[in-house]
Amino acid sequence: MAASSSNKSWNNSTFTNGHEVGSRAKPSSRDSELRQGQNSTLQKKVNGFKKQAQSHHTTLDLLEGEVKAFLIDEDELHTFDDLTKVNPVTTTTVLKCLHARYSADVFYTHAGCTLVAVNPFKHVPCLYSLDVMKEYHVDPQPQELKPHVFILAEQAYRNVQGQVEPVNQSLIVSGESGAGKTWTSRCLMKYYATVAASSSSQKCQDMIERIERRVLESNPVMEAFGNARTLRNNNSSRFGKYIQLQLNRSQQLVGASIQTYLLEKTRVTCQAASERNFHIFYQIMKGATEQERLQWKLPGEAQFCWLPNADQKLEEDSFEVTKDAMLHLGITSRMQRQIFRILAGLLHLGNIQFSAPANESQPCELDLQSKGYLQTMAVLLKVPQEEVLAQLLVRTIRAGRQQQVFMKPCSQTECGMRRDCLAKVIYAKVFDWLVTFINGSICANSSRWSNFIGLLDVYGFESFVLNNLEQLCINYANEKLQQHFVAHYLKAQQECRLNRLFDAKQFKTRLEKALSSNACLSWDKFKESPHFIVSHYAGTVSYQIEGMMEKNKDPVPLELIQLLQKSQDSLLQDLFVEQKEQNDNRGQSKVITVVSKFKSSLESLMHILHSTTPHYTRCIKPNSDCRPMTFKKEEVITQLEACGIVETINISAAGFPIRLPYQSFMDRYGLIQNPQQLYPVSGVNGASPAKKKSGLGAVGAVEAGEDALGSAVRDIINVATSGQAV
Ligand code: ADP
Ligand code: MG
Repeated sequence: MAASSSNKSWNNSTFTNGHEVGSRAKPSSRDSELRQGQNSTLQKKVNGFKKQAQSHHTTLDLLEGEVKAFLIDEDELHTFDDLTKVNPVTTTTVLKCLHARYSADVFYTHAGCTLVAVNPFKHVPCLYSLDVMKEYHVDPQPQELKPHVFILAEQAYRNVQGQVEPVNQSLIVSGESGAGKTWTSRCLMKYYATVAASSSSQKCQDMIERIERRVLESNPVMEAFGNARTLRNNNSSRFGKYIQLQLNRSQQLVGASIQTYLLEKTRVTCQAASERNFHIFYQIMKGATEQERLQWKLPGEAQFCWLPNADQKLEEDSFEVTKDAMLHLGITSRMQRQIFRILAGLLHLGNIQFSAPANESQPCELDLQSKGYLQTMAVLLKVPQEEVLAQLLVRTIRAGRQQQVFMKPCSQTECGMRRDCLAKVIYAKVFDWLVTFINGSICANSSRWSNFIGLLDVYGFESFVLNNLEQLCINYANEKLQQHFVAHYLKAQQECRLNRLFDAKQFKTRLEKALSSNACLSWDKFKESPHFIVSHYAGTVSYQIEGMMEKNKDPVPLELIQLLQKSQDSLLQDLFVEQKEQNDNRGQSKVITVVSKFKSSLESLMHILHSTTPHYTRCIKPNSDCRPMTFKKEEVITQLEACGIVETINISAAGFPIRLPYQSFMDRYGLIQNPQQLYPVSGVNGASPAKKKSGLGAVGAVEAGEDALGSAVRDIINVATSGQAV
C-alpha cells in the first residue's frame, strides 16, 4: 500500500487549494495579530493616499513607495512565505520580496493560490533530494513546510483520491522560455515516481519500478528529439507537452500518457543565428561509434548546413543517455539505428544546393558536391536517387476538373523549399512515431488506473521582432490558459463563442472586420509589410501576415509523399503508409490546417483541464543570461505583470480560492452545527468578493475582455483556419 493510503486520517482531508478552507496561510515570524491590526490601519492610510493621489494627479507609485517604508520591514522580507502577507501588494513590494528571498537562496514563494518559482540557475543542494520528497510526503501538514513545488505535488496526490469520488488533478506550469517549466515538470515526475511506489509489495515494486523508470526515461528521449539550444535556453523545449500520470486506487503510479503540441519542425532546416538544431543531431555527430559513422556516412570532419554551432559543448549532448532511455522504453538497438540512419540522411539532404539554370524553362542544376550528398541521402533513406532529384527539381501541377497533370521546373527557391519540406515532414513523422511508441510503452490499460495527475509544460508567451503563425498559436494557447486560470478562480462559467467565424469567406475582409470591431486588434501602422497587433493579456504582439496562410496550410506535395512511400526502409514505409484521403463534400481533398489541428488539440486539452482540479506554478526567469545570483528587476517585473501576479494575490487574499463540490463540502464541514458561521466559499455560494471586476489588471483584462480580447484572438485564429489566402 502506498504511504499515503496508510495515513488515511490525513490523506485527502488536509488539503484543498493550498490552504485550509476559510483560513489564511500562517505568518512566518511576526506577531500576526499585531500585524493584522497594524495593517488594516495602514491599509486605510494607503487607500486614503491613493484617493489623494488620484485627485491630485500625483504619481501613485511614488506615494506607495513612501507608504511602503513603514508597512514593510525590509530585513524580514525574505521570511514572507506567502506574497499575500506583503502589504501593500504592489508589483514593487512583490518584486522586493522575491528579490530578498532569491538573495537568501529561497526560490519558492506562495502567491495565494499559485506558487512562484524563481529559477536559481544553479544546483541548490538538497532542494530536490529523496529526503526532501519524503519530508513533504509524510508530513501531516506539508503546506506549513517551506514553500516548495512538492507541496503542490503532494496536495494533488492527496486530492486525487477525493473524499467522495476521485478528482483528477492538473499541475500547470507556466513561464517564459528558460524560466524552469520543464525542470519543474521533471521534478514533479520524479516526485510521483518516488512517492507513488514507496510502500508497494516487492512483486508490485518490481513492476512499478519498471513503469516508473520508463515514465522517467521518456524525458531524455523527448528532449533529445524535441529540445534545442536557443538564445534563451540551452535546453529549450520546442514542443508543448501534457503528460497524464495514471494512478490506481492504491495511488500507485501504473502508467502515463503523453500528448504533444506543435513541434517546431522548421528548426530542422532553419536555425536562427547562435541557435542550434534539435539535440539529437549533435548527439549522433558526437556520440556515434566509428562503425556507425561509416554506416551513416558521417566522417568526423563533415560539415552540415543544418548543424550550426556544432562546436558548442552542452550537457544535453549525451548520445548514450538517449540510447539507454530508448532501450528502456523498448526501442531496440536495431530500431534506434534505423532512426539515426534516417536522421543522418536528413543532414546530407540539407547539404544539397541548387543553382539556377541558364534557361528558365530548364530545371535547376546540382554541382558535383551536391550530387554526392544526394547519392548518400538516397542510400540512407533507401529511396530511388533519380526520383528524388526529379521530385526536387520539377513540380507536379494538377489542374481542371479532370485533374490533368502538368510538370513545371521549379525555381531555385522552390527547389530549396521542396528539400526543406521533405526533411520537415520526415522529422515530424519520426517525432510523432516516437511519441506513439513511448505511449505504447508507458500507457497502462484503462482497467488498471482510476485517476490521473496531469502535468502541463507548454511554451510560454512569445514576442519576437518577427512573429508569425507559430507565435500566434503559442500566444493563443497562453491566452486560453490564462482564461482558464481566471475562470477557475473568478467565474464559474465562461461563455464560449468559438467557431463563430468559421464561415469566413475571405481572410482580409474578415480580418478588416475583426480589426474594426475589436478593441484588442489593430493594424500595425509602423511596419512596411502588413502586420496586425493583438493586445494579449501579457502584452501586445505584432504579427506578420505574410506567409501566415501558407504556414497554416503547410502543404506537402503529394509526389514527395509518394516518393517516401517507395522507400525500401520499413520505418519510412510505416511512417508514410498510404492513407485514404479525406474529401470534403465537393469531392476535393480536405486540407487539415495547422491552426485547426492545434485548435482542436487545445480545445480537448482545455476540456481535460476543466475537468480537473488545477494547481498553478508560475516560473520566473531572474535574468536573461541564465546566470545564478543575478536578479534583474526590470525583467522580473515584466514577467510578474504578464502573469498578473498582483491581481492573483489580491484575488487570493480577498476571496477563498477553493471550489469544493457541495457534497464534499458538506461531508467535511457538516459537523459544524451553525452553517451561518462558515466563511463564504466561492463556487458554493458564489459570494466571493473576488468577483469584483475593478482593479484586476491583467487578469481582469482577460476576464472583462473575454468579449473583446478572447474573441479577438479567436477571430484571428478562426480566420486563419479558414485557409483563405489574403
Ligand atoms: P523552460 O522549460 O521554462 O524553457 P527549463 O526548465 O528548461 O526552462 O530551465 C532552463 C534551465 O534553467 C535548466 O536547464 C536548468 O539549467 C535551469 N533550472 C531551471 N529550474 C531550475 C531549478 N529549480 N534548479 C536549478 N536549475 C534550474
Ligand atoms: Mg521547456
